[in-house]
Amino acid sequence: MSPPEIDVLIIGGGPAGVAAALALRQQGIAKVVLLEREAELGGATRHCSHSPFGMREYHRVLFGSAYGRRLAADASQAGVEVRTQHSVVRFDGAASVLVSSPRGVETLSAKRIITATGARETPRAARLLAGERPIGVITTATLQAYVAFHGLMPFRRPLIVGSELVSMSAILTCLSHAARPVALIEAQSHLMARAPIRWLPHLLGIPVHRQTTLADIWGRERVEAVTLQTGKELRKVACDGVLLTGQFIPEAALFLNAPCGVQQGSAGPLIDQDGRLANPLHFAAGNVLRGIETGGWAFREGRAVGHAVAQDLRNGPAREEAIPVAYAAPIKLVVPGALRNSLLALPAFTTFQLRVSHRVRGVISLHLDGVPVWEKQAQWLPERRILVPIPARARSARTIEFRFQEKC
Ligand SMILES: Cc1cc2nc3c(=O)[nH]c(=O)nc-3n(C[C@H](O)[C@H](O)[C@H](O)COP(=O)(O)OP(=O)(O)OC[C@H]3O[C@@H](n4cnc5c(N)ncnc54)[C@H](O)[C@@H]3O)c2cc1C
Repeated sequence: MSPPEIDVLIIGGGPAGVAAALALRQQGIAKVVLLEREAELGGATRHCSHSPFGMREYHRVLFGSAYGRRLAADASQAGVEVRTQHSVVRFDGAASVLVSSPRGVETLSAKRIITATGARETPRAARLLAGERPIGVITTATLQAYVAFHGLMPFRRPLIVGSELVSMSAILTCLSHAARPVALIEAQSHLMARAPIRWLPHLLGIPVHRQTTLADIWGRERVEAVTLQTGKELRKVACDGVLLTGQFIPEAALFLNAPCGVQQGSAGPLIDQDGRLANPLHFAAGNVLRGIETGGWAFREGRAVGHAVAQDLRNGPAREEAIPVAYAAPIKLVVPGALRNSLLALPAFTTFQLRVSHRVRGVISLHLDGVPVWEKQAQWLPERRILVPIPARARSARTIEFRFQEKC
């Protein structure tokens, strides 16, 4: 059988996918095809009518929509073959995908495939929220898409659920479109976003309720009120919408039916230090790996994986066995989740990215073949990246393990 005509097929035209495509073209890879299901490139940045985007990659502060246009212009200038309105619906065989587009359904094969399909906020159904089911219970990304693409503001007095960075983006979108949140609630004892941005609701006079959850939603057609629960206390609050912010999950449905390996802590693909999956012809980059990071982080990661794939095409597919990284609660995720003693001179990931499930104080340590090689004591917060350098000799270790010891 003759080798596929396409060198690298990239699924997803957000910052990670575009950056991977640019890196591949820069490395002289001839045929790079970028598939995007939407009509334009840019990914989640397109509907962000706010800054800051582009600081790492363009050394400028851009609004999300301008940043998306810049990515599209760069891809076209670099000679990337961009196919918008192309949805990948299935992985098919070792390095093929089934694609649906206005042209119909077709199978595309490539020498390598990079998945960069991003992440999305957890919607109502997956949060198992009780109550009636009126319209107006949406995520930040949906709200921003309504506003940016359709000029529609679906409510005036929403409740904001969550306090991550994206929750502050939700507040700004509301205020800039004549809506004023009635309150922000957070289930934990502290707000998730970093200071000083987490002070935003206080500065704007928006009531903040910590250790509070959404117990019920009222309203037949439109949202009329919600019941909030703080400890044992229940109270009804009038509002006309519920904005579900954060709790990002990888857009990784493609992996459900593919024998590629999935991370226990994120349900995203499990990769090695080059961004490679269990099937060595497949790679992944960006928010599909974990949930949320900034656009600049996703771009940088996409570029690094693009460079790794270019090296891999020259070397031939990896044959080494991947050694999984072991960890247990409160560590909920380690990316990369495996290491291979691969021959690539420049790995895409030089640090492990860890996340913890809840606020803890103690020592996180890295052990290779049972011997501690790194440790740090601190207070660790959920939804914050923890970076641990990957020692060169970790690639040849037989066991790689992160441990946690609580210390008050
Ligand atoms: C509401 C909101 C506000 C944000 N604000 C900021 C900010 O101010 N600054 C900042 O730096 N970052 C911000 N971010 C984060 C930033 O947008 C993301 O980090 C970045 O877009 C992630 O890039 P990505 O390429 O990994 O994924 P995405 O940007 O999500 O791109 C993934 C792409 O894959 C496509 N896709 C998915 N599945 C398929 C398929 N099966 N077939 C074909 N295509 C597919 C999607 O349509 C999408 O275009 C924000 C995110 C959100 C949601």
